[in-house]
Amino acid sequence: MKKGIHPNYQSTLIRCACGEEIETASTKQDIRVEICSKCHPYFTGKQKLVDTGGRVDRFNRRFNVGK
Ligand SMILES: [Zn+2]
Repeated sequence: MKKGIHPNYQSTLIRCACGEEIETASTKQDIRVEICSKCHPYFTGKQKLVDTGGRVDRFNRRFNVGK
């Protein structure tokens, strides 16, 4: 007796927390991820965060904000 053991691939959408939607083929439906190539810190946030942090720190010291 043979049974179909092939996974049932269908096109589905991976939805990222940033709102990005990536169409792909998967056996699962409605995949949700918290991070994708568009919002991964390695590509975007890391540099921005480091840069912003330095500026805020300097800004606070110069103007004595937040004491
Ligand atoms: Zn994303």
